[in-house]
Amino acid sequence: MKDLVEKVEVYIVDLSQDKPYLGSLREGEKVNSAGYFVRKGNRTVYVKKNRSLVVRILTKDGVEGWGETYGIIAPQATAAIINDLLSGFVIGRDPFDVEAIHDELYDLMRVRGYTGGFYLDALAAIDIALWDIAGKLSGLPVMKLLGGQYHQEIHAYVSGLPEDTLQERCALAKSWQERGFNAVKFALPVADDGAVAEIKELRETLGEDFKICCDMHWAHSSTEAIELARQMSPYNPWFLEAPIATEDVNGLQNVAQQSGQTIAVGEEWRTVYDARLRIDNKACHVVQPEMGHTGITQFMRIGRYAEAHNLDIIPHATIGSGIFLAASLQASAALKSVKSHEFQHSVFGPFRHFTNDALTCENGFYTITDSPGIGVEPSDKMKSNMSLVTL
Ligand code: MG
Repeated sequence: MKDLVEKVEVYIVDLSQDKPYLGSLREGEKVNSAGYFVRKGNRTVYVKKNRSLVVRILTKDGVEGWGETYGIIAPQATAAIINDLLSGFVIGRDPFDVEAIHDELYDLMRVRGYTGGFYLDALAAIDIALWDIAGKLSGLPVMKLLGGQYHQEIHAYVSGLPEDTLQERCALAKSWQERGFNAVKFALPVADDGAVAEIKELRETLGEDFKICCDMHWAHSSTEAIELARQMSPYNPWFLEAPIATEDVNGLQNVAQQSGQTIAVGEEWRTVYDARLRIDNKACHVVQPEMGHTGITQFMRIGRYAEAHNLDIIPHATIGSGIFLAASLQASAALKSVKSHEFQHSVFGPFRHFTNDALTCENGFYTITDSPGIGVEPSDKMKSNMSLVTL
């Protein structure tokens, strides 16, 4: 007897922290009345109090699936898409039809041009929750349903150094090194003295063998990015991330082919179509799918397309409660070409809100859990920070 979906619930989770993402606000960066501020270095909006969007799907027999997507900016928009539109097409369905459901929901809005953005974020949350249920109904971790486990553990690189001065950022990187990590990424918008000063100082602090990458936050023209890459090359960056505007695929192709550096992109992609456009044009060397945007179904499609083209996969990990990070680790374990995975320390610090130890990252490696589904269950503490969103 099939156990069908009975209910879809959407929650906004409060993930407030003392310091804004990427560290203290710089000169001229001000929080507006809605709580938003813009980083001058990348012209991108952030929010003072971080938050995320979580989906709980319940079956008739009471099996609970958890999903999550970006809720940092305008979370009510994504919640409305789920409550008003998508949940009606998910209720009554068999969770084992998860890929078919994903494709049906995707097709609903193509004609109207909704092939990205908030619409696919909403789909990602539902997709993760359905895979979680399929795993739980099978008694298996999701990676076993995705073709099986290639990795027992996955290398982790530390994401960002949210301190106010270069000296403090070097000290923070050093403290990660002392905790067994051998890779770190710095963010160019808050590298106050520029990319070259930042990587030079980090290289001197961390030594020749340490992996250092630079997130360029889409802030440059292709000419500027190629020049910056040339200037950073004496300090041997591991990879350069998101060097130019995502819309400029030809420009990205130029950077990938002329910079002499390893170019990594993908955190803003939603589907394999985004990946195809860049991979077919030889515009990147490493792909960085972000589970919070792709869901498990598209994450795997992107990963397999990258593998078929001999590209490495180093998944992205953004701010969240940890639900989409857990899903990302399950999918990553099922992709042979995953070489490392971003380590978003905020998920492991004050916001570590799960009842089990499914999310573990020590000595620079994530452990992959064998728990059924995606392997995490929100604790009572996390649930007390979740607000139900209704229409
Ligand atoms: Mg990035």
